[in-house]
Amino acid sequence: MSDTPTPREALLGRRVDVLDKGWIELQDMMGDDLAIVNAARVSFLGESKGPERDKKLLFYLLRHRHTTPFEQVEFRFRVRAPLVTWWQWVRHRTWNMNAQSGRYTPFLENDFYVPAVWRQQAQDNKQASAGELSGPDADALTEKLLAHYQQGFALYQEALDAGVARELARVFLPGFAVYYTWVAKVDAHNLMHFLRLRMAPDAQYEIREYAWAIYRHFFRPALPWTAEAFEKYIMPTLGPIDPANG
Ligand SMILES: Cc1cc2nc3c(=O)[nH]c(=O)nc-3n(C[C@H](O)[C@H](O)[C@H](O)COP(=O)(O)OP(=O)(O)OC[C@H]3O[C@@H](n4cnc5c(N)ncnc54)[C@H](O)[C@@H]3O)c2cc1C
Repeated sequence: MSDTPTPREALLGRRVDVLDKGWIELQDMMGDDLAIVNAARVSFLGESKGPERDKKLLFYLLRHRHTTPFEQVEFRFRVRAPLVTWWQWVRHRTWNMNAQSGRYTPFLENDFYVPAVWRQQAQDNKQASAGELSGPDADALTEKLLAHYQQGFALYQEALDAGVARELARVFLPGFAVYYTWVAKVDAHNLMHFLRLRMAPDAQYEIREYAWAIYRHFFRPALPWTAEAFEKYIMPTLGPIDPANG
């Protein structure tokens, strides 16, 4: 028996920080590159044909969108992210998710997202940002945001102290910014679909940070051949990649 951990063993429980107070961790996973190849070769009952031919087959599968073998690999993450990110993530119907709701556990004082920079509204795209606000205007906005959070939280606390139910008191919390925690399970095929949409430069910065964290810290080390094929066949369709990523 080898003492060297498998990629799965090395990755399980790994937590990566994202944004100011968020993180993503791998709770569980099933399968690897070979599981994908073996699923495609099911008639051979999972027998490998050696790394070179196995890898070649995996590339063939992705290039020709023979995608179901990639569904043999599954990841389960625990994610802590601002609610705005949750709303975008939950649109991906092929994930299975369960979330903390604030009905059972009260929110904590620092459970709000404070952006590191104030992105400016893009002029040519209603959904996008371009450039950053800087100097005193940016600092003043951050101070106002913190004061807003403090006030919202104080009102929330006041309502709880007055005996209001947690499920109702949360209406006082700044909705888009509150940090939320959820567990999310997905297979490698649908994860690649998510990554293609959410690593792309037109995805909102916050969810893009999570997508890149998944790609770099979990997907690529867990499935090195699949990641190589993803970089070859799918990444070039994403558009110009932010040099801070990639
Ligand atoms: C840059 C960007 C901007 C966006 N802006 C908006 C917006 O302004 N407003 C908004 O509402 N949404 C917006 N979205 C969300 C978007 O419309 C999708 O809901 C989200 O990206 C999930 O994609 P999906 O449906 O392909 O993924 P999934 O739900 O994971 O589905 C994966 C694939 O499975 C198939 N599938 C899943 N469910 C069904 C079904 N019921 N019927 C048929 N096929 C199905 C489809 O082929 C789908 O592509 C935006 C997304 C991005 C990336």
